[in-house]
Amino acid sequence: MCDLPRSFLMFLAVMLLGLRRSNRLIVSLLVVSIVSASISVDAAERRGGLRHPKNIIIMFADGATATQWELGKYSARQLFNESFTVTDVVFRKGELGMLSTHPLDAYITDSAAAASAMSTGYKVNNFAVSMSPDGKPYKTVMEAAKAAGKRLGLVTTAMVYDASPAAFSVHARSRSEFQSIVDQYLALAPDVLLGGGADYFLPSGSAGGKRSDSRDVMAAFAGRGYQVVRDTAQLNAAQGSKLLGLFADQDMDLEIDSDPHKQPTTAQMTAAALKALSRGSPRGFVLFVENENPDTAGHAMDAAGLIKALWAFDKAVQVALEFQRKTRGETLLIVCSDHETGGLSPTYARSGASPGSGARVFSMGASHLKLIAGIGISIKQAADKLGRKPAPEVLDEMLARHFPGFTLDADLRETILNQQPLERNFLYATSGALSRMVARQTGLYWGTSGHTSEPVVVGALGPGARLFRGYQDNTDFGKNLHRLIDRSRTAR
Ligand SMILES: [Zn+2]
Repeated sequence: MCDLPRSFLMFLAVMLLGLRRSNRLIVSLLVVSIVSASISVDAAERRGGLRHPKNIIIMFADGATATQWELGKYSARQLFNESFTVTDVVFRKGELGMLSTHPLDAYITDSAAAASAMSTGYKVNNFAVSMSPDGKPYKTVMEAAKAAGKRLGLVTTAMVYDASPAAFSVHARSRSEFQSIVDQYLALAPDVLLGGGADYFLPSGSAGGKRSDSRDVMAAFAGRGYQVVRDTAQLNAAQGSKLLGLFADQDMDLEIDSDPHKQPTTAQMTAAALKALSRGSPRGFVLFVENENPDTAGHAMDAAGLIKALWAFDKAVQVALEFQRKTRGETLLIVCSDHETGGLSPTYARSGASPGSGARVFSMGASHLKLIAGIGISIKQAADKLGRKPAPEVLDEMLARHFPGFTLDADLRETILNQQPLERNFLYATSGALSRMVARQTGLYWGTSGHTSEPVVVGALGPGARLFRGYQDNTDFGKNLHRLIDRSRTAR
């Protein structure tokens, strides 16, 4: 009934008074039938329709979309005979959707603008964090969750103040306002905050600290009852219901480079976050878990780094899925991402460049994946170690040690030694050339060292999942989350 506009009811009342008695009866019957139809539609929607989740887990793989998911699935099957939970469970059994990703001011998005749209329901300019071009903050998912009495968790392999977790929580004109973002975290007080980026929690002058004021924000969190953990063992042993975990000064390492004692996996962080958030949460929680590494590997056009990041993310999705199943009917699990990175293009290619060898064409398959899986270092770390003026013998040693079975063609060798990028959209000479070496022998090519316009895939399981079905805009994703979170405040 409340759906009927007030002016329409007034109009009817005036009309009724002006009518003859017999006509009044007819019009009254008409009004009663319109009103009861309206009530029954409302009731039917409540009965069969949208359910509001108590808990929402957003599993977010920065830079990954369909081609990356397919690579994760195919490689898990070929190399380990394992299934891939993202595709084989969440996408296959859940609701499936796609999101357009363009920001307000361009066709290609950065992570800040994409995550802002997905958090607030509004398009913003590239590099803005949940804020309009004229500086108006838009309400974020975590702000909505806080207002609804839910507990909050932010987990990432990047710096905790990086664009995606920041845009799901707070506001900034630019994603590079790290110190302000950390200050806003202290004010917002997410119950769980795990990742890298200790540098902007500590004053410059202290070890690893970069803050321009003299504040120790890590101590400020501890003073507010947070358990502060700095390595894997401390995280796994944590018993607190409020948790700050900072495992690197900046980004945590890619899985391919990571020391598991120093830095926990995404799955370990997810498990710790779920454990902490489940404590004393009558109104539930919203947990955002990001693996940044498909994006980092994509920028370096790094096949081995990407595949290991995808597997690590999938293990974290398994942890989240187990929780979702245990709390069936209460938890919405969403697997999603912000944009594609690297223009990933597994393909077939000529097996050699010379006239004779060029006739044979090979198609990427299991043997090529095995070659990729044998690489022992990320392309980013290899490029960092080689530096801007790599000596030929250092390059040879790097290749022999970390890239078994690969041969660097003469043109690519020149590219690295002379630091001449292969193409204008390959921003980094060394990673571009190492990536092309891997591509020539495996068929796993990349189109760019930047982001692309590919729509991203969304999979959702649990109450409210159907809102995410179909081809939507990334702003719809944000609107759907707000609808589910805001309504749950009144429903409970
Ligand atoms: Zn990126």
